[in-house]
Amino acid sequence: MTAILRFAPSPTGRLHIGNLRTALFNWLFAVREAGSFILRFDDTDRDRSKREFADLIATDLAWIGISPHKTIRQSERIALYDAAAEKLKAAGLLYPCYETPDELDRKRKRLAARGLPPVYGREALKLSKDERTALEAEGRKPHWRFLLPNFGADPFAPQRTDIVFDDLIRGETTIDLASLSDPVLIREDGSYLYTLPSVVDDAEMGVTHVIRGDDHVTNTAVQAAIFKALGAAVPRFGHHNLLTTVGGEGLSKRSGALSLETLREEGYEPMAVASLAVLVGMSGSIEPMADLETLGGRLDFAAVSPSASKFDPAELDRLNREIVHGLPYAAVEGRLAAMGVGEPEGETFWLAVRGNCDRVPEAKGWAEIVFGDIAVPAPEDEAEAAFRTTALRLLPEGDVGLQTFKEWTSAIKAETGAKGKALFLPLRRAFTGLDHGPELGPLLPLIGRERLAARLAAPR
Ligand code: GLU
Repeated sequence: MTAILRFAPSPTGRLHIGNLRTALFNWLFAVREAGSFILRFDDTDRDRSKREFADLIATDLAWIGISPHKTIRQSERIALYDAAAEKLKAAGLLYPCYETPDELDRKRKRLAARGLPPVYGREALKLSKDERTALEAEGRKPHWRFLLPNFGADPFAPQRTDIVFDDLIRGETTIDLASLSDPVLIREDGSYLYTLPSVVDDAEMGVTHVIRGDDHVTNTAVQAAIFKALGAAVPRFGHHNLLTTVGGEGLSKRSGALSLETLREEGYEPMAVASLAVLVGMSGSIEPMADLETLGGRLDFAAVSPSASKFDPAELDRLNREIVHGLPYAAVEGRLAAMGVGEPEGETFWLAVRGNCDRVPEAKGWAEIVFGDIAVPAPEDEAEAAFRTTALRLLPEGDVGLQTFKEWTSAIKAETGAKGKALFLPLRRAFTGLDHGPELGPLLPLIGRERLAARLAAPR
């Protein structure tokens, strides 16, 4: 059986790193099984879903390296959901309800006051045809609930009905259907909540595995019942732990916090983000993976922690730094060109500065120092001023090459007796304006004779 997986975001905002965890669990599993991966936009909520978010979500996934085999939109498949809803209605499994949100709230409060769980009592199921007609004549529109199979002969006497499934990640999981309210599948305005369309699509597309966050465990019991009611095979479900901020708050698509867009704009590498999204909250070390294939080799459902995991930006910085320090020129050529750094010095420049960049955009600062005009700091004292004069006099003749620094510093050392920090720091300050930075030797040919001389002679 070919594995068919899907990632099903609602296009109500940008993806965050927690959504990416779900996307990658599905993508890496699909790739490993030589299966297929469907991107499905759950956009039946007409008020909150936006086409532009769907497009941006696809862009975010492409940045990570996820290229769906197929993309579908629920808003274009309403006829399928209507057909399924009709089937359920005909079987008496989807019934109209007329309570307003306020009335439902009062019902829940009455139950709570009696120490009972806030489970819907199926009062609407008792309505006669005439009562329904009267309510509709009042202007009420029905919402529709699915009758959960949690009773014997009498729907008003629910009995414990355990749905047991072998969760791909959590292992055996049990949900008692009697502990749940009949879920609303269709709103008053006729639009579908995600529950039924998801089942219809999963069935229609032959989805074999559904991997999603553990906030959906209860939905799984409900949806398993709907699959059965529609006569469809129930896919294998897996629920992974969720990511929270360091402060323990949930991530939200609408808040934009830790969105892939922000991370990309801040200059993080996709593999740093992907490695962390998958490996956090999983036993084993969190290391930057070279590519998605290698990351897929680390995907181990048995190693996923049962509790929520904190996403720590410092960890992302560490992974990113490790990746950037080893990035070949080819991986950054376009980005450097956009900063105005290209051939013939591009590669030498990158290899000289990458060890000092936590993120690629930081190369721009080094490019300004190497190729631009810098404000050379005034010498701290007479000795430093004299040192610069001596250094300028001893600048070796001819082109500045990779050997120049060694030759030059030997000459300065021989004349002034300066060594170690006393030799290198004043040069660094004069050449770069800073007290720290990349090795000077490889930078000198890039800065070039003219700028080196001008910086040593800069007005004090
Ligand atoms: N649209 C749902 C969500 O974003 C999909 C859940 C699922 O994967 O079934 O939570």
